[in-house]
Amino acid sequence: MPYHAYAGHQAHQPLEPFAYDPPPLGEYDVEIKISHCGICHSDIHILDGDWGDNFPYVAGHEIIGTVTQRGALVTHLQIGERVGVGWQSGSCMTCEWCVRGETNVCRHMIATCQDRFGGFADFIRTDSRYAFPIPEKLTSENAAPLLCAGITVYSPLATFGVRSSDRVGVIGIGGLGHLGIQFAHKMGCEVTAFSTSPDKEAEAKSFGATRFIHSKDNDQLRAGRNSLDFILCTVNVNLDWRAYLRLLRPNGQLCIVGAIPDDMMIPAGALISGQKSIRGGSIGSRATMTEMLAFAAHHGVVAQTETMPMHKVNEALQKVRDNKARYRMVLVND
Ligand SMILES: [Zn+2]
Ligand SMILES: [Zn+2]
Repeated sequence: MPYHAYAGHQAHQPLEPFAYDPPPLGEYDVEIKISHCGICHSDIHILDGDWGDNFPYVAGHEIIGTVTQRGALVTHLQIGERVGVGWQSGSCMTCEWCVRGETNVCRHMIATCQDRFGGFADFIRTDSRYAFPIPEKLTSENAAPLLCAGITVYSPLATFGVRSSDRVGVIGIGGLGHLGIQFAHKMGCEVTAFSTSPDKEAEAKSFGATRFIHSKDNDQLRAGRNSLDFILCTVNVNLDWRAYLRLLRPNGQLCIVGAIPDDMMIPAGALISGQKSIRGGSIGSRATMTEMLAFAAHHGVVAQTETMPMHKVNEALQKVRDNKARYRMVLVND
C-alpha cells in the first residue's frame, strides 16, 4: 500500500500530492501513522534546494503519530503507542560518538526528511530507536515542535554547562526562541530576551524572560554589557557579533543554533578578552531528547502553535515563510 505525501519536485514550487511505496520494514523499524507534523525553517531550506537538489523532497521532521507496525527486533515500542520523530532518524550506533551517547554528532546521521521521505504524509517508516514515546501530559499539537525546535534549544542549555545561577540571553523570539526562553526560565536561569520587535516584549516576559532588549537599540545593548553567561542565538541572520560578545561575562558562551547562511566575522580580541567562546548546537542526542520531553511535561513548557490541515500545506508553508506563524505551525492529518 503506497504512502501518501506532499512533495516538492523543484525549488520554490508548490508541493504536490505524491504517493510512494515505503521501504521494507527493517528489524529495528516501526511504521508510524502520522497525526501531526510541525513546520521548521529547515523544511523551507530543503524545499528551496538550499541544501541539495535531490528532488523530490517530502519535508517535515516534527512528527507525532502512533505505531502501526514494528520490526522483529522492536520490543520497546508497542502497537498504538504515541511517538515522535525529529530531524535525526538514524545513526551508526557503533562510532565513538554513538557509543558515548552523543548520537547527534554521528557522522553517519540520517536526516528524516533529507535522506529519506519525511512527515508531510500519512505514514512514515523509520528506525524505532529514533522514535520517542511522548509523555501523556503533552498534547500532540504541542509536542510536535519539541521534536526539532525544542531539542535544538534544550540540548545546549542542558549539556553545555549552563547552571541555574547563570544569566541566559535568547536572541530571537520565534519558533525556537519562545521555547528557549521557557526552558532556560524553568531551569532556574535569569533570562534576557532579544528581539527586533519591541511589540514582543510582553509575550517574551510571559514565557519567562525578566529583561527585554530591543536589539536595534544600541543604547540598550551597551547597557547590557557584561551581564550574561550564555547566549543562545536562534535567528538565521548575521548580527553585530562584537556587540553580543560584549554582553557576555568572562568565560561566557555564544551558542549558534540558527542556520546563518553567511560567514560570521568575529574579531579575535573579542574572544580572547574574557576567554569567551562561540559554538554551534546541533539538535540533541537520543538521551537528551527523552530528557527534554520529560522536562517539558513536568515543568509545563508549552509550544505556542497554530494548526492547519495537512492538505493546506502550501498555505501553511507560506505563512512560515512570511514569518506570520506565532510561533510554530503544525499540520494535522484528517
Ligand atoms: Zn527543524
Ligand atoms: Zn555513530
